[in-house]
Parts: sequence; C-alpha cells; structure tokens
Amino acid sequence: MIGARSEELFKKSVEIIPGGVNSPVRAYKSVGMTPPFIKSAKGSKIIDVDGNEYIDYVGSWGPMILGHAHPEVVEEIKKACEDGTTFGAPTEKELKLAEIICGAVPSVEMVRMVSSGTEAVMSAIRLARGFTRRDKILKFEGCYHGHSDGLLAKAGSGALTTGVPDSAGVPADYVKNTITAAYNSCDELEEVFKHYGRDIAAVIVEPVAGNMGLVLPKVEFLESIRKLTIEHGALMIFDEVISGFRVSFSGAQGYYGITPDITVFGKIIGGGMPVGAYGGRKEIMDMISPNGPVYQAGTLSGNPVAMAAGIKTLEILRDNPEIYEDIGKRAQELEMAFMKAAQKYGIALKVNRLGSLLGVFFTDADVVDLKSAVKSDLERFKRYFKYMLEKGIYIAPSQFEAVFMSFAHDEADIDKTSKAVDYAFSKL
Ligand SMILES: *Cc1c(COP(=O)(O)O)cnc(C)c1O
Repeated sequence: MIGARSEELFKKSVEIIPGGVNSPVRAYKSVGMTPPFIKSAKGSKIIDVDGNEYIDYVGSWGPMILGHAHPEVVEEIKKACEDGTTFGAPTEKELKLAEIICGAVPSVEMVRMVSSGTEAVMSAIRLARGFTRRDKILKFEGCYHGHSDGLLAKAGSGALTTGVPDSAGVPADYVKNTITAAYNSCDELEEVFKHYGRDIAAVIVEPVAGNMGLVLPKVEFLESIRKLTIEHGALMIFDEVISGFRVSFSGAQGYYGITPDITVFGKIIGGGMPVGAYGGRKEIMDMISPNGPVYQAGTLSGNPVAMAAGIKTLEILRDNPEIYEDIGKRAQELEMAFMKAAQKYGIALKVNRLGSLLGVFFTDADVVDLKSAVKSDLERFKRYFKYMLEKGIYIAPSQFEAVFMSFAHDEADIDKTSKAVDYAFSKL
C-alpha cells in the first residue's frame, strides 16, 4: 500500500537520519509500517511522493487549522520573504502578532516569541521559578510539554515521590524538582500541595490534553489547580500549544473561563512556520531579560516570515468567528460516524471531542487520564490505521494522538471519511 518511492526514500533516510525522521512519531513504528513521504498539501488533502492523495487529519499535528497552503497565508509568507527573512532586530510584525494574541487572550498582557513550543514551555518554567523563587513544578501524566530535560519526567513510585527521567540522557538531578500527578485527579493534586505547597513554583497543565489522544479536563480539576496555586503562592501555567486558538479564539482558558498566570502557545500561532510564545501578567513578564533577571533569548525569535504566517492565520480566525462553529460541526458529524460504525459492528469505542479536536479510543471505559487511555486496544488501532490509510485517510499513526479537523475539510471529506470508518470497523 505504501508506494515504492516512499519505501525507497525511507530506506535511504534511515541510513543518515535517526529512524529516518526528524521527530519520532513520524516513523510509524507503533503501526509497524513505512511512512509515506509527503510531497505537497493543499486544503484538506496531502499528497505523497507516489502520487497517493489522502484526506489529512494530522494537520502537521495541530497548526494547520485553516488547511494546508491557505492562499492568503502563503501570499503573506511570500511577501515577507521578499523583504528579508530575518534581521535580528525589532519589527512591526512582532508587535502586530503580540497585539493580536494579547487582544484575544485577556490573561496575556505581555508576550515573548520563541521558535518552538518546547522552547516556550522551557522558558515559561524558568520564568515561573524566577518569579516565585521556588524550584518544584507539578505536571500531569500524559501531558506533553515538549522535550526539555525537566519535563521529560515520569512519576516516581508514588504520587508524592519526585519524578524520574523519562528519557536517557536526562540526569536524575534535572527532574528531581518535577512532581507528576494523574490528570483530572483533584485528590492527587491536593495531596501534592499538602506536602509540597510551599516549594511549588508552578503547576503546568494542558487545559485540554491533546497528547494522550484527546482527554478533556473536568472543570473542577482546572478550578482546583487555580484555587490551590493561589492559596500556596504558586503560578498556574496553561500549555495551550494545541488548544490555543483552536478550542476557541481565546483558547481553552476562554472556553472554560479560567485565568492562568502564564500561557504557552505554539502550533497555530505560527500558521505553519516554526513559532512558540509565552505570555502572562505584566508583573510576571517583567522578570524576563532585559527588564528582569530571568534570561531568555533567540536568534530567530519573532522572525518576519513566521510572524507573517501567524498574523494572517490569526486574523482570518478573528475576522471569521463562524470558523470555529463550522469545524466543530464537521467534527461532530465525524464523531457520529465513529459511534454509528462502532455500534453497527460491536466495536468497543470511546470518542472524546471538543470543537475540532477528536480522540478516538478503542476501549469501552471512559478515557479521563493516561491510565484509562492506555487501556485501549493497540492491536486493533494498528489494523484500523492500516484500513483508513488504504482508503485514503491520513490520521496520526498512534492511538495517543488527536484527530485534527481543519476549516478546509468539507462535507465530501466527511462523507468519504465516514465511509472509510465503516469499512475499517467492518474489518476489525
Ligand atoms: C506540540 C506541543 C509542544 C511542543 O511544541 P514543539 O513546537 O513541538 O516544540 C508543547 N506542548 C504541547 C501541549 C504540544 O502539543
């Protein structure tokens, strides 16, 4: 099914690029296949080097909310390139993107641009530590916050033990200040604060978890984080790298009505170019150099090409608020197609959905945290994935990734995808 050209390129790539890829999940290891090499994409479609066309539900893992190669975004990128791609000096475009972000997300009074989500999270944590003069951070199992050392931590032997490295090459000392608790567990949260409250600089959370499949927060869980952080003088960091400008124009915080101290962005705000950003209250952001003692810098930070793509993408989202409703509706239709096929063929299935994000799990128990997500039938996912690809549907090659709907997906796409789901489920 994977074309000869992809096979050939992959064979060469694995010789000189680790795993043949520049980010691990792309290697298709968990589905035991060779990944198609992508040649181009337009709207909701992605085309591989063998000429196969797929309906794309990966959307480059989140950024492509308007679909691929949106003409207005492409035009802005071209114009920016012609004017010079980087100056390492302040530009009006940086100001403009900052104004759009601060205008959309009230908790963000000031914002600093960086070049990836990983970099933004890493900087936000440093900032929280600098501001509170404390070292410990609390994160939740199954939330991904990029690959910086301190966040590649998994839970120790109990909720109150500090983290252990989740990657080779991370010194135990680098994660000894990282505490890990279960997502959506108010009990564990309270226990951690009871024990470490005075030492916690920040709690970082994906307010809508998109990196263990899609897992929705219980509102009281987010509220409880807010309450406990305030009580104990810790900061609340929302990692909205996926949810920002996706769940709503004001992100998950706007949707749930919860105000964090620091917010991290990425993906959509770069319109398909490499970008990350972190922002928050002025008194906190003023700690960053050159205003304050927390150092952070970047050669290509705020470069005009990325800013141009981000500005146009956010302007389109801002000026066409019906986009969110539209993609939500289409995602809902797809959700129904999944449920219908599951019922028809007696497949144990749970679908979590929020707006244009879907999490499709092969399990019959509710998926509310990592523990329940990993109960999914991975062998079944593997087969499902293969049948979907065979029918021209490109989804993430892992049970633990979300389905991303874009504004470019139309009724015909949903129809074709629903038929593919029926076909795939009939074979499971
Ligand atoms: C993708 C992601 C990151 C990391 O962003 P990169 O640009 O890949 O470094 C961080 N947090 C969340 C929630 C993400 O989904």
